[in-house]
Amino acid sequence: MSQKSNQVDSLYEEGEQWVQNLGEKTVHAKRMKGKFRNIKWLAIAVWSPFFFGPYVTWNGQQAILFDVEKRQYHLFDVTIFPQDLWMLTMVLLFLAILLAAMTTVLGRVFCGYFCFQTIWTDIFTFIENQLEGPPAKRRKLEKAPWNFTKIRIKISKHLIWLAIALLSGVTWMLYFGVSWSDYFDGSASSTTLTITAAISLGAYTFAGHMREQACLWICPYARIQGAMVDKQTIMPTYDHYRGEDRGKLKKGQYAEGQGDCIDCNQCVAVCPTGVDIRKGQEYGCITCGLCIDACDSVMEKVGKPKGLIRYTSLDEMKFNKPFVALYKRPRVIVYSTILLVALSILTYGLFNIASMDLKVLHDRQPLFVQLSDGSIRNKYELKVMNKTDQPMLVNIGFDSTIKDLKPTKEIPNVTIPTGNVKSIYVYLKAFERNVGDNNSVIFSVTGDETTLKYESSFFTPKSVR
Ligand code: SF4
Ligand code: SF4
Repeated sequence: MSQKSNQVDSLYEEGEQWVQNLGEKTVHAKRMKGKFRNIKWLAIAVWSPFFFGPYVTWNGQQAILFDVEKRQYHLFDVTIFPQDLWMLTMVLLFLAILLAAMTTVLGRVFCGYFCFQTIWTDIFTFIENQLEGPPAKRRKLEKAPWNFTKIRIKISKHLIWLAIALLSGVTWMLYFGVSWSDYFDGSASSTTLTITAAISLGAYTFAGHMREQACLWICPYARIQGAMVDKQTIMPTYDHYRGEDRGKLKKGQYAEGQGDCIDCNQCVAVCPTGVDIRKGQEYGCITCGLCIDACDSVMEKVGKPKGLIRYTSLDEMKFNKPFVALYKRPRVIVYSTILLVALSILTYGLFNIASMDLKVLHDRQPLFVQLSDGSIRNKYELKVMNKTDQPMLVNIGFDSTIKDLKPTKEIPNVTIPTGNVKSIYVYLKAFERNVGDNNSVIFSVTGDETTLKYESSFFTPKSVR
């Protein structure tokens, strides 16, 4: 018997009969080499900067820092204050629509390649595979009685899982200004310790124990994706017309009326969520493409064309309709328009964050005061915020068409500490006879090469008559 025939025989032994896994047993997915497996590794590499991010410095400070205490958020050169958090809305809108657009075009591709649950699970199961061996060995070990070897392997696996989970939890906190030394010298607050423990325990439980069950039962996205896909969405699909009737077959064998699927179950054996794609689209499918790798390698072994499972759309598979260009698909047009708008607003916001903020409040109690020389005095509170990471010296001025409008005392230059708001009180006086229809006063505050203006009014007794 040829080597390839032996390989085909062994496929049947390795495959697993499909059952809907409701969480009562662990899915031990087989790991196979292939194009989509490589893409998954690349996607994991996209996440790796998460672990290095907190150590990158920029202009002498942590490049990405969410300083909750000072209420400042640093992204390299940009410092964002709570006043600018409207941009976060744009970021969230952008990400939500991007997810919807990706789902419309490529199904749950985010789940399959970029979701942290999928990525962390993939890393955890990789470690399990290295320590406990391939799925058959893992299942055997699960059933085996506890002995020294089993205890050693299980303890090693759980210790490595816990180490990765803890590293994830601590790394997350580093973005919020916590440092490694805080954990060792006892200066970490109880809030820091609680959040770190919650994230670490979450990573350990979700990626190590719950795995695909989190995608099936907890993630809301799995439930709403149906509203985002259409007949043109491309996702891994089993070619029912070509594959059926399925039946066991060896290389070189021919059976009348039999399709190309040799019923080896390899597509099921590699599926991280335990889905049998031959039963049609299921919400458990995370569009990872690993069943395509598996089936392609089987097709190669039995000498049949690849692509029995392939990325394709319902329209193409069922009605043989050609792929419609993205710019002709209404959903894609709508999503792209919203994406573009959100991105434009965000870009504008990022490049136009002022280095300070100015608000002018006119004193209402009283609205004005008559001085002993007969002139009218108004009081203004200028609230100036320094949004830079350096103290800022600001210079205050005003402009008005009101004749002889002047301050009752000289307006001083003021230094505002970084991230602080300072109230500066300005008193202006003028004679009522000089105040015409236009009673506006425009205040200007200059600092850090930026000038902000704010329009207010000058009130006299005739304003309220
Ligand atoms: S679809 Fe491919 S991998 Fe799945 S059982 Fe059939 S031949 Fe095997
Ligand atoms: S059915 Fe295929 S594409 Fe879907 S999750 Fe399973 S292996 Fe991935």
